[in-house]
Amino acid sequence: MTTAIYWFRNDLRLEDNPALMLACKSADYLLPIYVHDKRLGEETPWGFPRTSEHRKVFLQESLEDLRAQLRNLGSDLVELSGDFREVFSNLRTQLGVSQIYCEQIEAPEELQQVSALRDIGFEVQSIWQSSMLDPKSLPFQLEQMPDVFTQFRQQIEKQKLRFSNPIDTVSVIPPLPTDGIVSSFQTEVDIPLGNSSFMGGATKAQAHIFQYFERRLVDTYKLSRNQLLGMDYSSKFSPWLALGCSSAKSIAQQLADYENRYGANDGTYWLWFELLWRDYFRFLHFKYGTRLYQSKGLGAKESNQFDDVKFNQWISGNTGASLVDAGIRELGKTGFLSNRMRQIVASYWIYDMRGDWRAGAAWFESRLIDYDVYSNQGNWLYIAGKGTDPRGGRPFNMDKQAKDHDPDGVYQRTWLSQIK
Ligand SMILES: Cc1cc2nc3c(=O)[nH]c(=O)nc-3n(C[C@H](O)[C@H](O)[C@H](O)COP(=O)(O)OP(=O)(O)OC[C@H]3O[C@@H](n4cnc5c(N)ncnc54)[C@H](O)[C@@H]3O)c2cc1C
Repeated sequence: MTTAIYWFRNDLRLEDNPALMLACKSADYLLPIYVHDKRLGEETPWGFPRTSEHRKVFLQESLEDLRAQLRNLGSDLVELSGDFREVFSNLRTQLGVSQIYCEQIEAPEELQQVSALRDIGFEVQSIWQSSMLDPKSLPFQLEQMPDVFTQFRQQIEKQKLRFSNPIDTVSVIPPLPTDGIVSSFQTEVDIPLGNSSFMGGATKAQAHIFQYFERRLVDTYKLSRNQLLGMDYSSKFSPWLALGCSSAKSIAQQLADYENRYGANDGTYWLWFELLWRDYFRFLHFKYGTRLYQSKGLGAKESNQFDDVKFNQWISGNTGASLVDAGIRELGKTGFLSNRMRQIVASYWIYDMRGDWRAGAAWFESRLIDYDVYSNQGNWLYIAGKGTDPRGGRPFNMDKQAKDHDPDGVYQRTWLSQIK
């Protein structure tokens, strides 16, 4: 009889989850766990907590939803906190289990976690499953993928690749190793109260995606995606995608179903195009790995010097540039920011304030409920001109941005009247 652990990471769902499916088919007893890694509760080198309350709330809601789904299948979810090595070592001591299944995350810290577990004797099976396109379906090896997004996209379109098919939802889960195991291991987790427009969990994700297509918002997506205020100007799929409450393949499948029903249009194409950016930043990690985390990124020049005073002005929304300050305050208040405003505040920090892009990226990591290591790192590098942008960086003109995207100042008034 085999007993295994299923370690949920950024894949908090039963739908289209190949790693979980494999664990369910391979083990006689399965312990589903989530580890609140101690490191995520620590401070960044720039002196602020690595994870904000908004992120904690969204995560906790997502875990509650996952727990309910697992219970429906006769299983459960054990949440554990602490140093992840100790957490797993304790489980091994008490249960004698050394087989772990999980999703593969191709970012340095997450890769180190898996190799550290292997070093202390665990057998870890990690499966890549967070992209819309399966890497095996691509017309190139990831290590040789085109650096420039347009060339990457063109090669994919030439092969008529749209997405890889999602697999069936897990409907049968092996029993827990022993009765009473959940209460004996569970560590108390303080659940903060949510007050956001976004509620975590696969159930909410499905409802949100369903209404987005039902209301046919995608038809106008290309025209509205650069707006700044409201829920409908863009899909808002990102928070659920980031924690894996929904899978990119299943969203792409729903987009294809929509096109079959109503016909393809500029909006449907552009939503796919943006989801492809998400894949692109993921795949770049296979090619460049830790180089994407250096101060100079893929470029030759180190990042700007860090300046504490300027950074505090930026993160508190007190730079004096009203569009930027409004954006930073929206981020602080909600844990979300439109793509356009992310570009604007990032550009201002890097080019106008001459700030260290890594501190900006860390601030986003701390605040964004849709924080995604690949997309955050990739976009910050791109704007800083240290990634794969053929134009070598994206300095934005603030007056032009305000004129184009907030001509009546409604966005600025909305958020500048808020206390951070
Ligand atoms: C500096 C900076 C940091 C960012 N950090 C993150 C992050 O941590 N997590 C994150 O998910 N996105 C990040 N983005 C990308 C983008 O801003 C968000 O994905 C998008 O705003 C989320 O809103 P939406 O779901 O309504 O997007 P939509 O416009 O509806 O797009 C649909 C989906 O496509 C993907 N997507 C769209 N734009 C991008 C992009 N530029 N790069 C990668 N994927 C994209 C997302 O998965 C998104 O949910 C960042 C962008 C910038 C400029």
